[in-house]
Amino acid sequence: MRDLDEVRARLAALQEQDLPTHGGRTLAYVYDSGLAEVDRLGREALAMFASSNGLDPTAFPSLLQMENDVVTMAARLLDGEQAVGTVTSGGTESVLLAVLTARDARPEIAEPQMVVPTTIHAAFLKAAHYFGVEPVLVDVDPETFRADPEAMRDAVTDSTVLLAASAPSYAHGVVDPIPEIAAVAAEAGVRCHVDACIGGWVLPYLSAVDRASVPAWDFSVPGVTSVSVDLHKYAYTPKGVSLLLHRTPELRRPQYFAAANWPGYTMLNSTLQSTKSGGPLAAAWAVTQAIGESGYVSLARQARAGALAVASTVGSQWEDGIPHVRVIVAPDSTLVALETDETCDVFTIADELLARGWFAQPQMAYRAMPATLHLTLSAATEPHVEEFLGSLLESVAAAVEAGPIEVDPGLAEAAAALDPRTLDDAAFDGLLQLAGLAGEEGLALPERMAPVNALLNVAPAPLREALLIAFLDRLQRPDRD
Ligand SMILES: *Cc1c(COP(=O)(O)O)cnc(C)c1O
Repeated sequence: MRDLDEVRARLAALQEQDLPTHGGRTLAYVYDSGLAEVDRLGREALAMFASSNGLDPTAFPSLLQMENDVVTMAARLLDGEQAVGTVTSGGTESVLLAVLTARDARPEIAEPQMVVPTTIHAAFLKAAHYFGVEPVLVDVDPETFRADPEAMRDAVTDSTVLLAASAPSYAHGVVDPIPEIAAVAAEAGVRCHVDACIGGWVLPYLSAVDRASVPAWDFSVPGVTSVSVDLHKYAYTPKGVSLLLHRTPELRRPQYFAAANWPGYTMLNSTLQSTKSGGPLAAAWAVTQAIGESGYVSLARQARAGALAVASTVGSQWEDGIPHVRVIVAPDSTLVALETDETCDVFTIADELLARGWFAQPQMAYRAMPATLHLTLSAATEPHVEEFLGSLLESVAAAVEAGPIEVDPGLAEAAAALDPRTLDDAAFDGLLQLAGLAGEEGLALPERMAPVNALLNVAPAPLREALLIAFLDRLQRPDRD
């Protein structure tokens, strides 16, 4: 056997390459409460239950108990008096199961559809792709980026099995008008899912004083049939835990899968996973018990204060606050999206921020929506928000100085004319080089991503998807040297 300390040292060296998960400077992907002792407790619970198997709750009753405890807390939070729930591995799995359950509740519909706003999380497109449910994308209000209930009503057909909307949307951080959308769904006799993956553990804890006037969006709204809430976001638990709640046990029933038609144990599952580590659930149980309601009230207010400080300093007009950038819409929760005027671009700002130790996530232009810079504010970012705003001011100034990246119009035109379905591997190798994602020697991410992102930003969505799949496919290759 190898020397264990040597392996430990290599793990630590590998981790050095990553974005920091704690410290509040990574403004997407990770969530930091700033409570180091609670984090330690979460990691202990994760390790303690890492080998337990949620496959069979009668063999591991501790996991069933913890699942029911966490669901009880969530149902209370979301006003779900009769609600039931399931722990899943993440927001995407919760969304997949919500769509699958809605589809299977209507087996008589041969070609099921779901009506969703264009701002719905891509997890719904994944569900559509996996489960053969056609997504009917409905444009949002061009000013507020919120879903348009009337337009959604017009998109409902006899084949609609689900309406869905967000609280809030990932890209712009606004809550859709859930009461109106749920009413449309109820009237049509269709399920209505609220994707509160990122807001579900924040919005309920913000008092009326701290909060923009967000209309109700949880089970208190008639017609809402299911809600997804991620614990590995704003419940600040280690990765691998989300919840899918249904208003009643009847609504959840089609979510279950059983298979007795084989010679092994009767498979009985509530989620996509079968063998399922008890670690993430135990960690979520421990962290939510430890932080508790009053703790989450403080954390939610702290993250919200950070978001409001960013929004007010940046400003909602080009010339107030930080010139040349503005918040695209006032944030309803803890997510802020920034856009630029024509003097600079968000991709260069992202590179400049990274050089100053801040990770912000560029979002590409989509339909009538401009490219934006996405900022997820954690509680742990709030104490550093002044420093962040200083770095942002410098980064915008540097981006204006550099000027916006101009994509060669010929290149953009050529990209628009390409049909990715006709391209072979060699063509993708060439395109990856052209895009700056590969050099002569194979894949190489450039120091500055802005030129790559600016190019991807003008590529039609199918080409961008195909190109990034080709990139990932080449990244994920065994190292045989
Ligand atoms: C994060 C998120 C998801 C997907 O969750 P994962 O945990 O990344 O799988 C879905 N919807 C919204 C609104 C989200 O923010």
